[in-house]
Amino acid sequence: MIETGRLSVINPPREAPQFTPELLERLARRVSLWGERARQTLYSPFDGSVLGAIPICSPEDVQQAVRLARTAQAAWAKVDPKTRARIMLRFHDLLLERQEEILDLTQYETGKARRDAQEELLDSAIVAQFYATRSPGWLRPRRTGGTFVGLTQTWEYRHPVGVVGVISPWNYPLVMAVSEPIPALMAGNAVVLKPDPQTTFTALWIQALMEETGLPAELFQIVTGGAEVGAALVASADFIALTGSTPTGRKVARQAGERLIGVSLELGGKNPMLVLEDANLEAAVDGAIHGAFANAGQLCVSLERIYVHEKVFEAFTRRLVEKTLNLRLGATLDHRSQMGSLTVQRQFDTVLAHVQDAVAKGARVLAGGRPRPDLGPLFFEPTILTGVTPEMRVYSEETFGPVVSLYKFSDLEQVLTLINHSEYGLNASVWTKDLRKGREVAARIQAGTVNINESYAAAWASMDAPMGGFKASGLGRRHGREGLYRFTEVQTIAIERLVPVTGPTWLPRGWYGRIVTAALRVFKWLTRLWYRV
Ligand code: NAD
Repeated sequence: MIETGRLSVINPPREAPQFTPELLERLARRVSLWGERARQTLYSPFDGSVLGAIPICSPEDVQQAVRLARTAQAAWAKVDPKTRARIMLRFHDLLLERQEEILDLTQYETGKARRDAQEELLDSAIVAQFYATRSPGWLRPRRTGGTFVGLTQTWEYRHPVGVVGVISPWNYPLVMAVSEPIPALMAGNAVVLKPDPQTTFTALWIQALMEETGLPAELFQIVTGGAEVGAALVASADFIALTGSTPTGRKVARQAGERLIGVSLELGGKNPMLVLEDANLEAAVDGAIHGAFANAGQLCVSLERIYVHEKVFEAFTRRLVEKTLNLRLGATLDHRSQMGSLTVQRQFDTVLAHVQDAVAKGARVLAGGRPRPDLGPLFFEPTILTGVTPEMRVYSEETFGPVVSLYKFSDLEQVLTLINHSEYGLNASVWTKDLRKGREVAARIQAGTVNINESYAAAWASMDAPMGGFKASGLGRRHGREGLYRFTEVQTIAIERLVPVTGPTWLPRGWYGRIVTAALRVFKWLTRLWYRV
């Protein structure tokens, strides 16, 4: 029996932030709207205090923002990608320079710990550097094979799609205002971003910084509001990049399907961690804590179910509980706190409901399990459950909070079946000292990213490799070439040379057919030799 102890609390909770009400008011005035609009007051999850107020756009504002963005995009498409890159690299430098201000603001909006806000900031700088330096090469027209050797000269051109609508959630507001807009802008598009209302100020701060670095003002617009405003954006943009829940993904895909516009959907997950018998247990425990409790579990790739081999289950569980109970919780603007608050009431309610439902149906709480109103209205303890069964909500539904379930396994085949028996397939984590086996097992897990001996950051930070979901976890990919190419229309341009591809007009069709048939037979052998198949 493992005792549940008290998590440490940090006192005094926080210091004065490096932003002022005047700054927030200046940011609020940057929202794209035409006329007076009602304002929505935003509260800090740290303590429920008023943060500021933002005007909420009407659907007409969204149409107008898209129209303006479209005009600005026509000029931007003609700008050399290397010039675009220089703007993004300046953005990279300014972002790092002004980090204290934006870290404070992001923390106040989300309630997250400093370390989680810092993770966002560093990731955003990496994205800026990555797409600024890679896109010019990737966007250059590319020679392709064409038809029979020498018969055509063929190129692939990449054109911008036009106006990209970005719709994002509240959990990583800094990353969301950067990691979709930057590749879209680098590809020559305009962007209209609709952040979640709770985290509008962070998005506006990023937009202001981009303008300061030389990005034309109307090229990157921000519209505010909830589902209705999001739907208006899907109704008028040329491409939609949504990050959000799977039910919202389905609605957006339906609406985009009607308009035949492209979408990329980064959706939910119920991400597994698999601890094999030969894993380095201490590292696996640290990985589990980071994977399950980073950003208070409000992370699409966070680990919500952990399968541990029976031979190491006891030892793993004991260390995991010990270390979890030693986590420091609190609302601080420095690095003392290891886990912050949940961000929105809706998420807090879901977390509480999942834990209560599991406990009512017989699950055991090994650590945490309780709200912490003494720390702030939306604080919830990092929670470890065992004895979780399929009739409990937490078994298969995404919790999106600091709650992880432990399962013991003995047979690898059976556990892989259990892991893959999920509607989701976003991220997974495998722990073993045998790296070859780790890769074999990883390749059998139905997930867009699998980390070996790491929880999520190894794959996420591999910027050159695509990131996204199998099954109901999404469509399309961010990061890598695919993260850029989704924002382009690809065009093939082919020049005919020497003789007509469809045969000279003087050649009887029967002869043409016989000549091409013979050529195809030779060609097949040549290509087989060349490609070794
Ligand atoms: P949500 O789906 O409720 O909202 C996401 C965004 O979509 C918000 O801006 C919201 O206003 C907007 N929206 C809602 N309904 C809409 C509609 N009908 N049309 C257009 N826009 C609409 O998600 P949430 O609860 O804010 O965020 C949490 C979810 O996001 C979780 O499921 C999490 O897994 C997912 N997420 C996924 C990733 C990823 O990369 N896969 C990253 C972060 C979060």
